[in-house]
Amino acid sequence: MAIDFELSQETRAARDYYHRMASEKMRPLSRRYDEDEHEPPQEWIDYYWREGRKQAPSGGGGDGMVRGCVQAEELCWGDAGLYLTMPVGALGGAAVLAAGTREQQTRFLSAFGGDGPPIWGAMAITEASAGSDSAAIQCTARRDDRTGEWVINGTKIFCTAGRQASLHPGGFVVVWATLDRDAGRAGIKSFVVPAGTPGMKLVGLEEKLGIRASDTATLTFEDCRVPDDHLLGSAEIKQRARGSGDKGFRSAMATFDASRPIVAAMAIGVGRAALEHVKRRLEEEGVEIRYDAPPRELTAIERDVMEMEAELQSARLLCWRAAWMMNQRRPNSLEASMAKAKAGRAVTRITQKAVALLGPEGYSTRSLVEKWMRDAKINDIYEGTQQINQLIIARRILDYPSSMLR
Ligand SMILES: Cc1cc2nc3c(=O)[nH]c(=O)nc-3n(C[C@H](O)[C@H](O)[C@H](O)COP(=O)(O)OP(=O)(O)OC[C@H]3O[C@@H](n4cnc5c(N)ncnc54)[C@H](O)[C@@H]3O)c2cc1C
Repeated sequence: MAIDFELSQETRAARDYYHRMASEKMRPLSRRYDEDEHEPPQEWIDYYWREGRKQAPSGGGGDGMVRGCVQAEELCWGDAGLYLTMPVGALGGAAVLAAGTREQQTRFLSAFGGDGPPIWGAMAITEASAGSDSAAIQCTARRDDRTGEWVINGTKIFCTAGRQASLHPGGFVVVWATLDRDAGRAGIKSFVVPAGTPGMKLVGLEEKLGIRASDTATLTFEDCRVPDDHLLGSAEIKQRARGSGDKGFRSAMATFDASRPIVAAMAIGVGRAALEHVKRRLEEEGVEIRYDAPPRELTAIERDVMEMEAELQSARLLCWRAAWMMNQRRPNSLEASMAKAKAGRAVTRITQKAVALLGPEGYSTRSLVEKWMRDAKINDIYEGTQQINQLIIARRILDYPSSMLR
């Protein structure tokens, strides 16, 4: 298997483009929207919708997922919270791509390339008693045979961009619900609920440690009706033989094969921001990092910085490998979880070390380092926690079904 880690010329041009955007448009707004947690960053949203999404050098060379990772790294180097406020399909869009038909993809996603007002996609899986264990979902979907509609009932918590996606016409929330609680994961299906659908209600916003620019919503669904063809995949409930899993649930889970490398890249962007800041401050203080010195002569600071760099590089290599495999249409669940687990842990360590190395300056709001430390931790929680991704890796390597290793 040949692997080439050289980015295409177009991806390098895109990287430069997104880096400028991050530096000129995001960094100046970082502190403001960290402090004004529930204020939508309208100037950033408008800029991205009007210009940002249109001017990036066009794709090509078949490296789409790698490009997505490069974009996520650069923009999260700018600001991870603002990145999550971008008017895009996000996880909801990824779910439609992973589990929807071609016709559904066109119907639900084409407005994201249109010229109307900004719109958002979101995905609502998590419930009060179903987080890591998504098979425990209690939210129900019942078919009304009289009208042919699906009727959804339940409460979803911690839904990223849930406010924007549920309110602005044209956007949507992909909701996971069960057709039959006794059927376990085989009964779980996903439904596209368009913004403004009666019965879907925004009832709360979280106050958070980090990524505070991003809205994290609680949504309720009370007799919320969507047409028959808003179900992604088939309504059939099929228990499958060991190892093959249920197809509906599996295709919904396939969303994570695409999104985990992106989350890994987001983590790498935040970690790189902190590392670059530390290196610049050390340089200003006249502290040199001697890469060619023998190990026994290295100072503690030199060791720390080299370790931070190694963590970042190894996370990036795992991330690009998972993304590259996706481009090649190779199964990448194992690699996607490896990248996510490694990057989530790396960014947490790197940003904490950055605060420690800078002392009081790192802890003060005079720089963004303390914010990056707060923004880092979420990468170890959503899209599967550190422990859950490690569990997935173990299952894949040992070839154990989830019933045997949980
Ligand atoms: C800011 C933010 C944004 C989010 N955005 C979204 C979103 O857009 N859509 C959405 O659906 N959800 C979202 N989530 C929810 C997120 O995906 C869940 O919080 C996460 O999956 C963990 O679930 P939980 O909180 O119920 O924790 P739990 O599942 O209760 O886990 C608690 C702890 O136990 C550990 N644990 C659980 N099971 C095991 C096990 N079998 N073995 C070992 N350890 C285990 C976990 O790793 C964790 O440390 C978001 C969360 C946050 C904080």
